[in-house]
Amino acid sequence: MEDKSYNPFKTAQKLFDQAAELLELDQAARDFLRHPMREYQFNIPVRMDDGSVKVFRGFRILHNDARGPGKGGIRFHPQETVDTVRALSMWMTWKCAVVDIPLGGSKGGIICDPHDLSLLEQERLCRGWVRQIARNIGPLSDIPAPDVMSNSQHMLWMLDEYEAIHGAKYPGFITGKPVGMGGSLGRVEATGYGVMITVREAMKELGINIQNTSASFQGFGNVSQYAIQLYQQMGGTPICVSCWNQEDHKAYSFQKKDGFDLKELMSVTDHFGEIDKNKAQDLGFDMLPGDAWLEQDVDLLVPSALENQITGENAGKISQKVKLIAEGANGPTTPDADIVLTDREIHVIPDFLANAGGVTCSYFEQVQSNTNYYWPKEEALGKLDLKMTNAYVDVSKFAKAKKIYMRDAAYMISVDRVAQACRSRGWV
Ligand code: GLU
Repeated sequence: MEDKSYNPFKTAQKLFDQAAELLELDQAARDFLRHPMREYQFNIPVRMDDGSVKVFRGFRILHNDARGPGKGGIRFHPQETVDTVRALSMWMTWKCAVVDIPLGGSKGGIICDPHDLSLLEQERLCRGWVRQIARNIGPLSDIPAPDVMSNSQHMLWMLDEYEAIHGAKYPGFITGKPVGMGGSLGRVEATGYGVMITVREAMKELGINIQNTSASFQGFGNVSQYAIQLYQQMGGTPICVSCWNQEDHKAYSFQKKDGFDLKELMSVTDHFGEIDKNKAQDLGFDMLPGDAWLEQDVDLLVPSALENQITGENAGKISQKVKLIAEGANGPTTPDADIVLTDREIHVIPDFLANAGGVTCSYFEQVQSNTNYYWPKEEALGKLDLKMTNAYVDVSKFAKAKKIYMRDAAYMISVDRVAQACRSRGWV
């Protein structure tokens, strides 16, 4: 259920404040990093198919670009708010820093539900977003990418509009482009695979054989689908997935106690990642309430939907069997829930570490686009594995050495890297 009092930006600031305290950061650095460096909010008028004009609200927020151009996705969501975009832009700064890629943090959004828009209306909306912001973003300043409900086709329309405005080809303007049109092989898999690479490393460390484990996932979009694919390839057993149902305006959990095969679930899923209720039940899935994914008797939980999902109220419902949580989504766990998870000694792979695979491959895409030379898939995925493994090991070693929670360790490493970049530029 939606919690109206929850403010993701307040959570992001609170988590930052904790890290700043642990790092004994000076006041100027705290003041600088607590808020985004730049924010844009604008109207996007769109001519609808019936001839009327509808005005959408758009955002682009650059949290920090001390380590390199801003980087981050554009979310299409009916409940998008400026504070959500602010929080997510800050999390992008920490995400790029934790995997040590030379990029800063940004986020964009449009208040809309693409389910309600025809393809032509979506195209006009994408082009409209770029027209409003084309002079404030670019391949050397701030680079967008796909995110919640936006995809490679949207990215290509945005690129085309940007290139039309600036009168030349700028393939490095945006990432998550279709393969063959400047996209990188491995980009669609990258976020989900990245999550599972960190799970693999964590299980190694915890002495758990992945082949004897089961897992439950929240969300069935790009992140979950590829996380499940790699998890199955590594021998794990997925048993439950929760998924949003547009018609009923609520989520359901689809479960097979002995495990399911990703392919069978994909065969009853549309391109928005929505599972057909009736067809799934025909395939033998049990349909449970939306939050049942959290209560499964599994070893691994992978929240890969939206922020604010594991809270102080529901964290107590997590099964005693759960040993590991890998946060595929951004900000799925609230600080109150963190207290419960720490008490329970559940090993948490924090969001901006676990889901950094997407932006890491976006960085590879930019390198390829800027040099106009494209790598084989194995090369992109091999480099992704190396980056994710190194980042996981760095955070985990630091957490152990300092005897601190994984989230605090990830924050300390990232905030320190970004603060140092600001300091060496003479900003603080
Ligand atoms: N939207 C993804 C994220 O939140 C990817 C961002 C990117 O590729 O720039 O990490």
